[in-house]
Amino acid sequence: MNPISNNISLKQYNTFGVEAKARYFASFSSEEELKELLTDPDYSNEQTIIMGGGSNILFTSDYEGLVLINQIKGIEILEDTQEFITIRVGAGENWDDLVEYCVNQGWGGLENLSYIPGSVGASPIQNIGAYGAEVKDTITMVHALNRENLIPLTYSNKDCLFDYRDSIFKNRLKGKRVITHVVFKLSKKPVFHLNYGNLKEKVQQKGSPTLQIIREAVIEIRKSKLPEPEEKGSAGSFFKNPVVTSKEFKKLRSTHPDMPSYPLPDNRYKIPAGWLIDQLGWKGHREGDAGVHSKQALVLVNHGKASGKEICRLSQRIRESVCNTFHIDLEYEVNIL
Ligand SMILES: Cc1cc2nc3c(=O)[nH]c(=O)nc-3n(C[C@H](O)[C@H](O)[C@H](O)COP(=O)(O)OP(=O)(O)OC[C@H]3O[C@@H](n4cnc5c(N)ncnc54)[C@H](O)[C@@H]3O)c2cc1C
Repeated sequence: MNPISNNISLKQYNTFGVEAKARYFASFSSEEELKELLTDPDYSNEQTIIMGGGSNILFTSDYEGLVLINQIKGIEILEDTQEFITIRVGAGENWDDLVEYCVNQGWGGLENLSYIPGSVGASPIQNIGAYGAEVKDTITMVHALNRENLIPLTYSNKDCLFDYRDSIFKNRLKGKRVITHVVFKLSKKPVFHLNYGNLKEKVQQKGSPTLQIIREAVIEIRKSKLPEPEEKGSAGSFFKNPVVTSKEFKKLRSTHPDMPSYPLPDNRYKIPAGWLIDQLGWKGHREGDAGVHSKQALVLVNHGKASGKEICRLSQRIRESVCNTFHIDLEYEVNIL
C-alpha cells in the first residue's frame, strides 16, 4: 500500500489542471487497503474525498483533508451466454480503456461512450452519457462500501435512481459511499444507436456500422469539439442542460422562437445549455487564463495558469447572464470543491 503523503500538488490529478494541494494523499488498489486508510486513527477525523481521474472536479482551494485515489483494477467475467456477457470491473479502471477493450471483444453497449475521461467507478455517479447513450443502460449492479461502517453494499440498477447526469450517488448518498466495482451487461448481438447529431453521417463515411467504426466516429467527433485535457484543461460540460416543463418551454419559445429543445418522455423539455450561453456571446470569451471553449460554449477551459477560483467566478457570471436573459438557473455538472 502507498503510504499517506503530505502536501501533494493535485495539478496532475485534475483535468482542469488547476493548482491545489492535498493536505494528505494516498491511493488504494483493493477494498482492504481502502478500509485500512479509512480506519487509520491518525486520519479518521479528516474530511476525505475519493477521486478517480479528476475529470469532473474543480478545486477552488487546497483540500484540507485526505484525498484517496481509487486504483482498484480488474475485469472479471460473471456470465457468458450466446447473447450477453456480464462483467465486473474494478472502479479504478480507466473508463475509455474499458470501452476499447469491450469494442475489441465485440461486446456492444459502451461504444457511444468512447473517449469520456475518468474512471469506471465514477461512471454511475453522474450516469455518464454521450451521443444518445447513457451508462445506466448497461449497468446491472454497483458495489460500494459504506464509508461510515465499512459495510460492503450492492445496488441494483433500480436502486441507483439513475437520471440525466444524476444518480443516488450524486444526490442522497453523495460522499457517503465508495464505489469499488461496477457490473455491466453487454450485448454480443449489439443494436447500434446512431440517431444523435451527426454520428450516423460520420459512421456512413467510414462504411457499414460496426462497434469499431462507431467508436472511431465518436472519437473523431469528440476530438473536433472538445479540448484534449493534455492541451487545455477542462472538465467537459460545466453545466447540465436545463429541463423545463412544457408550460415554461412555451413561454421561452414565445420570446426566443429559435430556441432548440429535446422533448422528454415525461412531457418536459431539455434545452441545450451551450446554446443559451452561446446566444449571450460567451463562446471563446477569456478572462486571463479562464475561458469558454471556442468550439463549445458549455465547456469552460483553463488556458494555462487559471486558478479554480477564477474559473468558478467566470462560471458564476455566465450563470447570472443566462438567468437574467432566460430566467433559467443553470445547474453545475462539475463538482466544485
Ligand atoms: C474533455 C472532457 C469531456 C467529458 N465528456 C463527458 C461526456 O461526454 N459525458 C459525461 O457524462 N461526462 C463527461 N465528462 C466528465 C467526466 O469525464 C465524467 O464525469 C467522469 O465519469 C468522471 O470520472 P472521474 O474518475 O474523473 O471522476 P472524478 O472527477 O475523480 O470524481 C467525480 C466525482 O465522483 C466522486 N468519485 C469518483 N470516484 C468515486 C468512487 N469510486 N466512489 C465514490 N465517489 C467517487 C468524486 O468524489 C467526485 O465527487 C468529460 C470530462 C472531460 C474533461
